[in-house]
Amino acid sequence: MKADADSMTWKTGDNIGVSECMRLTVKEGKWLIDRLEQEHELSKAEMAALIDANCSELRDYARIKARAIGDRQYGKNIYIRGLIEFTNYCKNDCYYCGIRCSNTKADRYRLSKEDIMACCREGKKLGFRTFVLQGGEDPYYTEDYIVDLIRQIRTDYPDCAITLSIGERERESYERFRKAGADRYLLRHETAAESHYQKLHPQNLSLRHRKQCLWNLKDIGYQTGCGFMVGSPGQTADHLAEDFQFIRELQPEMVGIGPFIPHSDTPFAGEMQGSMELVLYLLSLLRIQQPDLLLPATTALATVHPRGRELGIEAGANVVMPNLSPVGVRDKYALYDGKVCTGEEAAECRSCLERRIESVGYRIVVNRGDHCSAKLMKS
Ligand code: SAH
Repeated sequence: MKADADSMTWKTGDNIGVSECMRLTVKEGKWLIDRLEQEHELSKAEMAALIDANCSELRDYARIKARAIGDRQYGKNIYIRGLIEFTNYCKNDCYYCGIRCSNTKADRYRLSKEDIMACCREGKKLGFRTFVLQGGEDPYYTEDYIVDLIRQIRTDYPDCAITLSIGERERESYERFRKAGADRYLLRHETAAESHYQKLHPQNLSLRHRKQCLWNLKDIGYQTGCGFMVGSPGQTADHLAEDFQFIRELQPEMVGIGPFIPHSDTPFAGEMQGSMELVLYLLSLLRIQQPDLLLPATTALATVHPRGRELGIEAGANVVMPNLSPVGVRDKYALYDGKVCTGEEAAECRSCLERRIESVGYRIVVNRGDHCSAKLMKS
């Protein structure tokens, strides 16, 4: 199949690890998408070929199917989460990330418990019923500190969901956070392929451990989110097919994906940005593979295109996570260059978002936005 202009931005050729026999026609691609819809599973080689075939015709085909499936599952409702980025200190040194510990240019900050509670107060007024506490892996926030924080939010906002996104911790810590009242946990696996994981991370970080954390989180009864960057350096269609296989096994409640965007003060400063079209295609394929997923249209997607969030929803996403961090620190949580919504007031952000979502025929709902299986989960 001839690559169209869009798919040319996705590196094809030597570094694509698809078996030589698999070059799909559009007709074959559609047939695989139909099978994914019926069986919710393809072999790794089939998935890699389907991903590699990324072209506008297949993207359209997948998008229309994904949106119909999404509408059947969640109607026209879009769930919102207030994202509180409470620390940009991090002990890890991931090569792609702007807040890696070696980046001496990062202007570091930590929010106090009072700051965080003020964000929740503001968020509640704006209609948020989920607070996401995200940060670098910052030992300053001990297990006891986090437990105390969760208890406080749980007491003050009994009708709100609490999501944590604070990286890899011991199983016992995850258990304590859950008992204290946390409902959900986001931990992107970043890439499910061992060799690729090693390209993106220093030696002291392991994919095995990260995956084990995800299995622990599921087992403890969190609504669990994994996810990966699209177009990170060295990524191939085979790697992405492994991501789909891992998701098929883990059966997470949420999956967060977005384009890799280089940060100028990291080892990947000179690398290419991930393709938005590929992100949209993968969002659709995720929706088709696992219809009940909570799928955010991420900030990174909004950063690479002015209508990124809307396009994400049209491709199958049903969640948006606007920033609730205090305006004074927003630009400091710089994981990548050019991040959007760093200057606006939270309230402005909220009404702008509402207009954007309505422009594509969807509406923001004021509720916790739990995964449909939540009531069945262990409490
Ligand atoms: N410390 C937490 C939160 C990480 S930040 C954790 O380990 O889970 C949230 C996500 O931002 C990361 O999981 C990563 O997928 C994404 N991210 C980091 N740097 C990025 C970059 N340069 N481009 C795009 N996404 C990036």
